[in-house]
Amino acid sequence: MAYNFIQFQQGMSLPEFLHCFGTEAACAEAVQRARWPNGFACPRCRGSAHCVLGAGSRRLFQCNACHHQASLIAGTVFASTKLPLTKWFLAIYLISQAKTGLSALALKRQIGVSYPTAWLMHHKIMSVMAQRDATYRLSGTVQVDDAYLGGERAGGKPGRGSENKVPFVAAVSLNEQGNPLYAKVAAVAGFTSEAISNWAQSSLEPGAQVHSDGLACFAAVTDAGCTHHAEVVGQRKPRDLPQFKWVNTVLGNLKTMVSGAYKAFAYSKYAQRYLGAFAYRFNRRFDLAGMVARLVVDVCRGHAIPERQIRLAEVHF
Ligand SMILES: [Zn+2]
Repeated sequence: MAYNFIQFQQGMSLPEFLHCFGTEAACAEAVQRARWPNGFACPRCRGSAHCVLGAGSRRLFQCNACHHQASLIAGTVFASTKLPLTKWFLAIYLISQAKTGLSALALKRQIGVSYPTAWLMHHKIMSVMAQRDATYRLSGTVQVDDAYLGGERAGGKPGRGSENKVPFVAAVSLNEQGNPLYAKVAAVAGFTSEAISNWAQSSLEPGAQVHSDGLACFAAVTDAGCTHHAEVVGQRKPRDLPQFKWVNTVLGNLKTMVSGAYKAFAYSKYAQRYLGAFAYRFNRRFDLAGMVARLVVDVCRGHAIPERQIRLAEVHF
């Protein structure tokens, strides 16, 4: 079944989504098109002549020249899945369209899988979103602010909550009219010059003009070839200042997502995945409908992630 990106422009309802990706054959076709946009090429001999064996996610491409068999899903996020691709695609749809985030529990209920399965799918898809978004850097005028994700862990002992708190930097680039373009939200090891220097080098283009409330560590953005403009805020918090309006809006949206959809999660373990998935959606907010098609392509092109790696705690630099 053919689909084109234009038809998604006016919004994509669930019936429209199901029309495009409601069958195993349509999903397999979409995976094939995302992986081999110029047609199948044998991974061994690069030959294009082939025959197709099997159906759905079990589809195999056998090279006519060397007889190598390539699986549709081996090496992808869907590798060795026992679920139909239609459930994966529905999960992609729900995650891409949920403006304030979607919990694994909601996903479990909506697609009819066990909680551990929903959790893994959710984390694999979020991981693709975070990795994809990590490749972009902000340029031009950028507002930054420091914040903490989480607080006291539910049921934690009083005063012991900080172990599940993750420091992160929120940054938003603005256009010449002062409207927001793109956001980055990244966990950092702490608000030290070293951590901000590392963050700036992976998150900002040289030449960006960074505006902060003057927290000392932000001066380290100059290590990445950026200029630093510390706004004098006195006793006031950046949240009260109009010049930090957009970074505050991003922080507000993030807070709504965390408190609304997730309640609490292991912030210290998985902060970057949640933050990256949030930024992925924010940065594509003008085209919520097209986001489905793009996330389908990004997930289909994503590499297989072993379960132990998904469960492993992140390290924040
Ligand atoms: Zn071949």
